[in-house]
Amino acid sequence: MYDFLATAGAKFGIGFWKPGSGIIHQIVLENYALPGLMMIGTDSHTPNAGGLAMCAVGVGGADAVDVMAGLPWELKAPKVIGVKLTGSLRGWAAPKDVILKVAGILTVKGGTGAIVEYFGPGVDNLSCTGMGTICNMGAEIGATTSLFPYNKRMHAYLAATGRGAAASLADTYGEMLRADEGARYDSVIEINMDELEPHINGPFTPDLAHPLSQFAAALAKNGWPADLSAGLIGSCTNSSYEDMARAASVAKQALTNGVKAKIPFNVTPGSEQIRATIARDGFEDIFVKAGGTVLANACGPCIGQWKRTDVAKGAKNSIISSFNRNFAARNDSNPATHAFVASPEIVTAMTLAGSLAFNPQTDALMSEDGREFTLSPPTGEELPPRGYDPGEDTFQKPPPDGAHVNVVVDPASQRLQLLAPFSRWNGRDIEGAAVLIKAKGKCTTDHISMAGPWLKYRGHLDNISNNLLIGAINAENDTANSVWCEATGKFEAVPAAGRAYKKAGTPWVVVGDQNYGEGSSREHAALEPRHLGGVAVIVKSFARIHETNLKKQGMLPLTFADPADYDKVGPRDRLSIMGLAELAPGKPLTVRGVAPGGKTYTFTVNHTFNANQIGWFKAGSALNMMKDLAAQSASA
Ligand code: SF4
Repeated sequence: MYDFLATAGAKFGIGFWKPGSGIIHQIVLENYALPGLMMIGTDSHTPNAGGLAMCAVGVGGADAVDVMAGLPWELKAPKVIGVKLTGSLRGWAAPKDVILKVAGILTVKGGTGAIVEYFGPGVDNLSCTGMGTICNMGAEIGATTSLFPYNKRMHAYLAATGRGAAASLADTYGEMLRADEGARYDSVIEINMDELEPHINGPFTPDLAHPLSQFAAALAKNGWPADLSAGLIGSCTNSSYEDMARAASVAKQALTNGVKAKIPFNVTPGSEQIRATIARDGFEDIFVKAGGTVLANACGPCIGQWKRTDVAKGAKNSIISSFNRNFAARNDSNPATHAFVASPEIVTAMTLAGSLAFNPQTDALMSEDGREFTLSPPTGEELPPRGYDPGEDTFQKPPPDGAHVNVVVDPASQRLQLLAPFSRWNGRDIEGAAVLIKAKGKCTTDHISMAGPWLKYRGHLDNISNNLLIGAINAENDTANSVWCEATGKFEAVPAAGRAYKKAGTPWVVVGDQNYGEGSSREHAALEPRHLGGVAVIVKSFARIHETNLKKQGMLPLTFADPADYDKVGPRDRLSIMGLAELAPGKPLTVRGVAPGGKTYTFTVNHTFNANQIGWFKAGSALNMMKDLAAQSASA
């Protein structure tokens, strides 16, 4: 795999950050993000770079392919939600609490189709990496991106990361990197940081916000397990020097009193630079002495790469992390794990207590010699006073000319498979498509294409397709990964049913609920249904990136014109999608359904295809269309 990445990078002039480099968003912040620039990245947490006044948007891989091929990137003009910050964070409150509060206000859908722009006098009271945390987790409210205006805190970070010249340039154009005087927003939220409490959000969704003072009551009321089974800090959201310094200041107080973490405490530094710097400055030592384990500089348990053996699958338990996502089974593959998110310093305090009912602002811990002691609010420098230690050099520069480089793909690999082009639209309506699954409730890209152990198949479409929709709940039986398959006449796992329909030459569709495809910008969630013979996804509403991803793979993402029509469709019905020859921007399509008893019905569906995107559908995929265009220009 790494040989493939290294050789593909070398051939096409792309720098390669070798394993152990860290999480890409942290690497971008440290090396590439610059005020006023625009970037697209193939991950939903790309907006992390908004902490450096950059318009950084998460997109599907196919969008990135377009841009790398020199095609323009397009997006329906987003609305702008203003978040006015006043005051400054106090006590245990951290930048994470700003976004946890915003998530509670806007919910996981509230930022859809909008850029979130922070402004107001409170902005200057946040560190640059703290602003990165806030922008990073804007993904959890569905925002197109989030960003802050350029300020002196960004200047300091740029200078500390070896980009003083860029900081001077940004100073020169500073006026252009801030909102205009009297700028107007589509809506405005105001947060007074003087009064902001630490928050704990969850379980199972990052927008279920609880101020710390009310959390113990929520815990008791809902019967969530109060005893913690693990605490985890790090991730692209919260692994800055400041985060680690503040968490270490909490752990150090415990050590002084002879106390260690009561539960497994895992620390993931966000980059090699952070790892080396916190090791040099003694924080790693504090974490280890306090019972922590410092993991590799990687996403690790944030994306399910956690071979957890201490809690049985299905056993109800609680964990707390400083990550951004807490959907069911995301971290440890156990759907019964109640995952909560908070700032690294609150996670550290909770880990010392071993209980979610602990409030470090008011409650005491017991020292080794039986005395009660309270933790003082965390402290920590925003930037390392001795400068950053770059650690090991893990970057591979591409050669000046990569023409001679062969891209390495082992034909016997179970992890890499070259993509074959998808078939073109046959020019006809879709007749009698089976309903592969009528998904009920939340269906994120984690439900559509699970992470964890499946990630090793990301380069092999056929193998990873065996996880298609295995997390989605079938409306027919309220069960995951069990759907009626007409092709075999029995209930099957979802991928098996998809393969059976494909073998029988029967097209199929997915029917879904609200905000279908929220979460990671995982392109496989669109590639897999296409690979297994899917033709359309009909839902009440889509998350933006997933909707575009489906279009790029030649699928039809459609929305019920009347959301109540979701109830008309039975999980064993056949659906025909009519009017495709006249597919045009803004023009709805008609779907005719036939229930098993022969009863028919129709309903209208909308789409957001523009003229160019209709070309993708007709060509079979955006890549096919690019190939067509390249062939045309070569023969012109
Ligand atoms: S898996 Fe977690 S740490 Fe990695 S990029 Fe995604 S959110 Fe960040």
